[in-house]
Amino acid sequence: MHEMSIAEGILDIALDYAKQNDAKVVHEVGLILGEMAGVEMESLDFSWRLITKDTIAEGAKLTVRKTPLVGRCSKCGKEFHIEHYNFWCPECKDGVLTTISGRELQVEYLEVD
Ligand SMILES: [Zn+2]
Repeated sequence: MHEMSIAEGILDIALDYAKQNDAKVVHEVGLILGEMAGVEMESLDFSWRLITKDTIAEGAKLTVRKTPLVGRCSKCGKEFHIEHYNFWCPECKDGVLTTISGRELQVEYLEVD
């Protein structure tokens, strides 16, 4: 279950941030999650609740902003939302779409006190 190691990574970031800001509580963690990041939100939530227990991030909310899978054509340079794993350019039908977003998972913001 790789969501567990992802949750651990998020917790590391949150605790570091709290320390730097002399915070005693982590209230909320905002995440950017690409639709192709391959993360199950349900198991990430579960892992998060598990590993934040007895830390200052216990009870902190994970707020997720999903980003679509977007690719840029190697021939005409246009950008498209990639659907149904179709990586051929719908415009010139000659190029291949290179992913420019949609696989990311990162912390966008943290709310601490
Ligand atoms: Zn194209």
